[in-house]
Amino acid sequence: MSSAANRSVVVGGGIVGLATAVAMAERGYPPIVLEAENSLATHQTGHNSGVIHSGLYYKPGSMKARTCRAGLKAMYRFCAEESVPHRRCGKLVVAVSEDELPRLATLEERGRANGVNLRRLGPEEIKGHEPEVAGIAGLWIPETGVVNYSLVTEALARRLTRLGGEVRLGHRVLSITRDGGGLALETTGGVVRASRLVNCAGLQSDRVARLAGVEPGIRIVPFRGEYYTLRPERAHIVCGLIYPVPDPVLPFLGVHFTRRIDGIVEAGPNAVLALKREGYSRRDVSLRDIADLALFPGFWRMARAQWRNGVDEMRRSLSKARFLASLQNLMPALSEGDIVPGGSGVRAQAVDFDGRLVDDFRIQTAPGMVHVLNAPSPAATASLAIGREVADRILGEGRTASSSRPDATTRSLAGF
Ligand SMILES: Cc1cc2nc3c(=O)[nH]c(=O)nc-3n(C[C@H](O)[C@H](O)[C@H](O)COP(=O)(O)OP(=O)(O)OC[C@H]3O[C@@H](n4cnc5c(N)ncnc54)[C@H](O)[C@@H]3O)c2cc1C
Repeated sequence: MSSAANRSVVVGGGIVGLATAVAMAERGYPPIVLEAENSLATHQTGHNSGVIHSGLYYKPGSMKARTCRAGLKAMYRFCAEESVPHRRCGKLVVAVSEDELPRLATLEERGRANGVNLRRLGPEEIKGHEPEVAGIAGLWIPETGVVNYSLVTEALARRLTRLGGEVRLGHRVLSITRDGGGLALETTGGVVRASRLVNCAGLQSDRVARLAGVEPGIRIVPFRGEYYTLRPERAHIVCGLIYPVPDPVLPFLGVHFTRRIDGIVEAGPNAVLALKREGYSRRDVSLRDIADLALFPGFWRMARAQWRNGVDEMRRSLSKARFLASLQNLMPALSEGDIVPGGSGVRAQAVDFDGRLVDDFRIQTAPGMVHVLNAPSPAATASLAIGREVADRILGEGRTASSSRPDATTRSLAGF
């Protein structure tokens, strides 16, 4: 193991942290990964839809578009090399009414601009892919797939170990101080000294940045996504991945069907404000997290701009009938008895001081440090590409020496 004078530390044992650690190890600088929990992938990485996204939705030229495309290819290669089960099942985006057609056309254009291989479908071709879906037009994206990102993260950890790196579980970083030329990280597992730090702490990334003396200019606002699952005896009505056309005016819409790699069919997720950063159920409340939100002016600006969507999402969260109605838009044959409450995940969404949801991935550099501050969907898909860019920056091989360009556009939570 390297001496503290030349040691790198990655905070966060999710997929972005592990992908970054492997990229650093491949460049000859195997880091130590410090993870707060007693297992890897406990938060976002272990609570998502498991979709390997194609890059259809993202603004051409954005970091999301670029790293999602590169990440998809790298993810399929990595899964094949490490024998991680995955399936390139394709995805269907379905327009169910005339007013969705212009938005479907825009999506098609955007996908093509991003280099996504896709095909326009008519109603009969839609039925060929998904017999129970009632659509008037659709897009078929053959390269989209499914995987279990927890298993990918574990495979990354094995590769990291082979390359000389280390994972320390149960090491929550509590404070970070400059110590001579280096850094001293006080953790729940003892003090760790290092010369370089990468912060991939997901739902806690803004707090870890502040511990390191960096003002991130954003706060993480947690949005819970709740799923229903199809009863096993009805799961056959969904063949693969079925998505609605995202609505730019109602950015919180977008519940979809996912046949996961294990064959279970999920419907969702919605997007409701969580009252705890790691709050997987409605009953989870953290006074500290609520106080942080209440004291952040950006939260109130966001609430003023998005309250109508927030109320709609809350009503859909509280009412199975409303959730079902959203799903029936895509699949009229679905009935109330077909779905049962499933799991949930919490998205770490960065919000700036003006109340805007940060659209693109956001990475901030400081001397000896890189902070990954906004890595929501499709960051699992894009993780291997993000990891390479972060490794370039922390090891001084990247061109960008200062903060990444802030992106002020309001983002859509649709498309998970
Ligand atoms: C509901 C939902 C559905 C999604 N669907 C998809 C999808 O289908 N496809 C896709 O590509 N993306 C999807 N995403 C997004 C994807 O899951 C995330 O972008 C990705 O997992 C982010 O990984 P991460 O490593 O940054 O964060 P995380 O997985 O959250 O990891 C951060 C880690 O940091 C640790 N940590 C925090 N604080 C500290 C500390 N002080 N000290 C030490 N460790 C700390 C945490 O314990 C955690 O393990 C979805 C997300 C959600 C929530």
